[in-house]
Amino acid sequence: ANQFGMKEALTQLGIKEINEGTSTGLQNFSSGTTLESYSPVDGQLIAKVTTSTAADYDKVMEAATAAFKTFRTMPAPQRGEIVRQFGEKLREKKEALGKLVSYEMGKSLQEGYGEVQEMIDICDFAVGLSRQLHGLTMHSERPQHRMYEQYHSLGVVGIISAFNFPVAVWAWNTALAWICGDVCVWKPSEKTPLCGIACQNIIAEVIKENNLPEGISCLINGDYKVGEMMTADKRIPLISATGSTRMGKIVAQTVAGRLGKSLLELGGNNAIIVTPDADIKMTVIGAVFGAVGTAGQRCTSTRRLIIHESIFDKVRDAIVAAYQQLKIGNPLDENNHVGPLIDKDAVAMYSKALEDVVAQGGKILVEGGVLAGEGYESGCYVQPAIAEADNTFKIVQHETFAPVLYLLKYTGSVEDALDIQNGVAQGLSSAIMTNNLREAEHFLSVAGSDCGIANVNIGTSGAEIGGAFGGEKETGGGRESGSDAWKVYMRRQTNTINYGSSLPLAQGIKFDL
Ligand code: NAD
Repeated sequence: ANQFGMKEALTQLGIKEINEGTSTGLQNFSSGTTLESYSPVDGQLIAKVTTSTAADYDKVMEAATAAFKTFRTMPAPQRGEIVRQFGEKLREKKEALGKLVSYEMGKSLQEGYGEVQEMIDICDFAVGLSRQLHGLTMHSERPQHRMYEQYHSLGVVGIISAFNFPVAVWAWNTALAWICGDVCVWKPSEKTPLCGIACQNIIAEVIKENNLPEGISCLINGDYKVGEMMTADKRIPLISATGSTRMGKIVAQTVAGRLGKSLLELGGNNAIIVTPDADIKMTVIGAVFGAVGTAGQRCTSTRRLIIHESIFDKVRDAIVAAYQQLKIGNPLDENNHVGPLIDKDAVAMYSKALEDVVAQGGKILVEGGVLAGEGYESGCYVQPAIAEADNTFKIVQHETFAPVLYLLKYTGSVEDALDIQNGVAQGLSSAIMTNNLREAEHFLSVAGSDCGIANVNIGTSGAEIGGAFGGEKETGGGRESGSDAWKVYMRRQTNTINYGSSLPLAQGIKFDL
């Protein structure tokens, strides 16, 4: 991978052969075992990261708790200035960080840069928001009383993230949490720990340059056991967890057990409905990018195409033909469309899904398979596959986190298509391809898609930071990023002030002494 300037990128990001995985912006303390990060691109060891023990974690939590006490008193627009500077550093490091994302995670270089761009965008958004953390003023029912609400900083925010968006998810959370006056402790995925180290190195520069309390950004590393230290910790009022529904159910129960708040961003099972009024060319682009982009490892990846029977053959043939054009290979080489899966476990899951769909009655339309030979030495490259299936198949009801697309047929109206679309446990992203206004509006109505994201004439994959991002049902119900998602990072307080000289009670209750 050196031909793509990876060595220089790692140097620029401060990645060493062995990196301390527990840090508070200024200090490193890490005494746990070592985690090795191998690239799915070429199977090479990139670098090592030491994991966090319970004692290391406690040091980080002490620093974070202390930092919160001063950071919360800094005026929000000044915190915005810190986030602005962070955004500037990201602009400087965009190329290096984008390359590392691509090399450690395996997504295409363009998508790696795109992820860093998302970080920059959320910083810009947060800077403006730092002057708009406003509550409402209400009319009091009592004379000479004033009532209003305000938002205060919440405390330490614990962030647990997934491998597939190894840097952007952290920034979605931190940029908002910081302007809200919170401090953050982050446990990145054990599959992409170097992305975590690189991000922490970047924010550490900002912390030093501004003499900020160390501990506004803390990093811990390791597997789920390190994550559990945070979910069980009463000192953390909010856990923001991104990952599988399986993980989310465990995290939600642990955090609820101590009555903490959790923000859950879990799995999807996203569908595009293709009606007889669809633009086929747009459908093919949206569906193919949605299904094979990031090698099908996006939470918003297109898993199911629900196609009307009258155009089924035409859409199927166009998509099957498009799959023949796909170039699979090194994601740092911009000529390739599809990179590797994250690791061999993911490859095994992909192969099992293809076996299952056939065993459950599906018909393979584009053959899958694990690629071998020159350029595929890591063993993580697979052929994107398509199967004709039925929504009731067990495998279709689950999120297959790989490039396997299921084609489903519907007869009748858009209501019938929606029954299929909504007939899964997950509720993240959804789309309809149609030029028919009635169908589009029905899809968006209360009787339409039950997902957190519903698009018309756009695929399911990808989102802009300006909107609130998240999904319903087993996707976990959380909302991050734009709109009013910032409110979850703050605590709301209702204040009533009596500026009169008597003490009338609410609801007209009389209490005379
Ligand atoms: P994963 O659930 O295996 O791991 C995610 C993170 O949770 C990791 O950091 C892991 O160490 C941690 N973790 C696992 N069990 C834990 C526990 N019991 N307590 C505390 N922490 C625990 O997920 P993954 O394979 O890294 O990512 C893929 C999944 O993430 C997919 O299901 C995908 O749809 C989902 N995802 C969702 C979104 C979203 O915004 N909705 C975004 C990205 C990924």
